[in-house]
Amino acid sequence: MAHPTHAKDPWIEMLKRFNEAARRLNLDEGVWKILSEADLELKVAIPVVMDSGKLEVFAGYRVQHSRAMGPCKGGIRYDLGVNLSEVKALAAWMTWKCAVVNLPFGGGKGGIICDPSKLSQRELEMLTRRYTAAISDLIGPDRDVPAPDVGTNEQIMAWVMDTYSMRVRENSAAVVTGKPLLLGGSRGRADATGRGVFDILQHAAGRFRIDLREARVVVQGFGNVGATAARYFQDAGIKVVGVSDVRGALYNPHGIDIARLREHVAKTRSVAGFAGAESIPSADLLTLPCEVLVPAAVENQITESNAERVQARLIVEGANGPTTDEADRILEARGVQIVPDILANAGGVTVSYFEWVQDRAGFFWPEAEVNQRLDEVMHRSFTEVSEMAEKHKTSLRIGAYMLAIDRVAQVYKLRGVYA
Ligand code: NAD
Repeated sequence: MAHPTHAKDPWIEMLKRFNEAARRLNLDEGVWKILSEADLELKVAIPVVMDSGKLEVFAGYRVQHSRAMGPCKGGIRYDLGVNLSEVKALAAWMTWKCAVVNLPFGGGKGGIICDPSKLSQRELEMLTRRYTAAISDLIGPDRDVPAPDVGTNEQIMAWVMDTYSMRVRENSAAVVTGKPLLLGGSRGRADATGRGVFDILQHAAGRFRIDLREARVVVQGFGNVGATAARYFQDAGIKVVGVSDVRGALYNPHGIDIARLREHVAKTRSVAGFAGAESIPSADLLTLPCEVLVPAAVENQITESNAERVQARLIVEGANGPTTDEADRILEARGVQIVPDILANAGGVTVSYFEWVQDRAGFFWPEAEVNQRLDEVMHRSFTEVSEMAEKHKTSLRIGAYMLAIDRVAQVYKLRGVYA
């Protein structure tokens, strides 16, 4: 899907929060320097023979921000807005996210500049296989384990797994997560990020005294994360009054029927044109009257230009980097609570970790067990982040960064520097 190039540099936005947390932690100067850079940045040219017979060359990236905690973990994004700075920021957020929920992974991320909705299945497969071949020296179950992100799905993960397996000449299910169940995917993975967002909303609502039976929720983005979270909200009797995707935005103050909307999206591939709500300008979605806002699309959506008008009391970040640092300050001054991305959307990587564990053991868990373990991780992490924020009298975002950076710094201390 196409969207305008993000005005803010996501890597800089990440660094601002990192620096503030590092300052509060009194972080060792050397570790500070290491973590302010990515361990590895790779750009690859990906030639693809298109259906027309013409040869096209796409640009792809893989970034490994930190390998200290274990193999890198992080999704692959297919989007026209992909650029190196975005991939670096997303990789660093993976380092912090894995550390917040205490998984034995470092942070990585990848992406290809393309519009997947304009590619045929064959072109997508060729693109994916050639990209996988290009990064295959970097990835592996003990090196770097990709997963889906914006614009990619379990079919694409299946091609990554197959291409890598052919190259190393062994079946390597654990090289990638978010795979189809038949190839070693985990039960519960497809829903995990949305379920984790729902878990977090419940904990945060309790902490900030928001009555979810009365609350109005707005969700930006209706893909894997947004649509799944919205389904969980509706199933729990929580009213979703606004939703959007890249093609349109909807508002119904009485509540949108998410089950019917999902049927509409399955047919038309967009929320636009849904009869059960009023169509509104996309820019108005984030400032609709509501108690809870769940940005679940892309970066830099809540900025200094709309933060003043956000009406929600609580923001639960389903997307990575949806709020700029300037917006954070405006919202904080207005008393709006934000549960940051590196905690709120960590359900996906948590079940990706479960998938990696199951693949390596060759033993698969029932869905109830996956969900129960996920709920426990989200609950424990929410509590730990809240305690850190309280102890240092700071926001949940800076509390989450502090928790993560402190864990990564301890590992650097123990490992030392290899000379
Ligand atoms: P997706 O491709 O399934 O869905 C993205 C949705 O956002 C689509 O509905 C798209 O139309 C919409 N969108 C894109 N730009 C928009 C815009 N400017 N305004 C409104 N809507 C817009 O992607 P996803 O997997 O749901 O990922 C969404 C976000 O969540 C990303 O930031 C991603 O990094 C993050 N995330 C995803 C996972 C996961 O498991 N998939 C895990 C953690 C974080």
